[in-house]
Amino acid sequence: MTKRNLYDFSKNELTAFLTEQGHPPFRAGQIWQWLYRHYATNFQAMTNLPQYLRIALAENLEIRTPQPIDIVQSTDRQTTRTLFQLADMEAVEAVLMRYRKRRTLCISTQAGCAMGCPFCATGQMGFRRNLTAGDIVAQALFYARRLAARGERVTNIVFMGMGEPLANYAATWEAIRRLNDPEGFGLGARMMTISTVGLAPAIRRMMQEPEQIGLAVSLHAPTNQLRDELVPVNRRYPLDMLMATCREYIDATHRRITFEYALMDGINDTHQQAGQLADLLAGMLCHVNLIPLNPTAGSPYGGSPPERVYAFRDRLQAKGISTTVRLRRGIDIQAGCGQLRVKHQV
Ligand code: SAH
Ligand code: SF4
Repeated sequence: MTKRNLYDFSKNELTAFLTEQGHPPFRAGQIWQWLYRHYATNFQAMTNLPQYLRIALAENLEIRTPQPIDIVQSTDRQTTRTLFQLADMEAVEAVLMRYRKRRTLCISTQAGCAMGCPFCATGQMGFRRNLTAGDIVAQALFYARRLAARGERVTNIVFMGMGEPLANYAATWEAIRRLNDPEGFGLGARMMTISTVGLAPAIRRMMQEPEQIGLAVSLHAPTNQLRDELVPVNRRYPLDMLMATCREYIDATHRRITFEYALMDGINDTHQQAGQLADLLAGMLCHVNLIPLNPTAGSPYGGSPPERVYAFRDRLQAKGISTTVRLRRGIDIQAGCGQLRVKHQV
């Protein structure tokens, strides 16, 4: 019989499991801390548990850590990208970006993605499977363990790796709760951000969640005609519906939304399109992140040259839209979404 993975238990499930086996419920809290505060990878490390319990646990359960099969560092050593192999041989990526004070981790929520954005390496690979909450938190624990060895910790987590987090809603939110749990990983909700392609009903569902997570929406085009092409799910949730939902989200949460816009050479980067984008966002509590596209092997789109990126930014700013150009981190290690995984497929 295959052993159950400890990462697949919620705290309540773990308490129920231990109680069923005749152990006191407080053991669940201890094990939880070993996993999520001390990043333990085996039961023997859990030294405040009696030896008989450590042995009994190891007989029934395992701590299935994802295997790093490729770790690449950018030449400036500030960005580290890891390709993990999961137990069923699927592979997902996570990226750590070091800034002066921040240590920002970008993690995956699905193996592949069903949304089919043609400029995206993950989209090109198609959908493989949803990650479990355990698969998602294990990426954070891997990096937290490495950072702890140097006296550092993860300060921010963005759900911007492979996959569409809101298409794997339950597992993503269970992961967020565990990462946020003060008795677990203990990362403030405001230090986490979900990036979505714009699944309007799921954005509405997010408004009900108690955790104050940041929201980023990948826009990439100011008109339905162009967005239908670049972000095919726009046909299901077109711009008017998406923007109305975003306005509702801001009203309900009083939190600013970040709009991501990957600038593609000659496609979505003209003066006129900057004006259309500014009109679309007029009066909203929002911020725009401009990212020059990181070209992928399988698509015809190229990144906009710097002068057009800055002209686009200037036009938005002149129209009163708060805008920054996002630094491209790890360009020399193919740190665009899903690009390392694709390298391993060929
Ligand atoms: N599915 C979610 C989150 C993962 S993608 C979403 O689409 O938002 C994270 C971000 O990377 C998105 O804004 C996405 O549009 C962007 N992205 C994907 N491929 C890219 C590329 N080749 N260059 C630049 N940004 C890219
Ligand atoms: Fe999926 Fe996001 Fe890539 Fe689109 S950009 S294919 S939604 S991962």
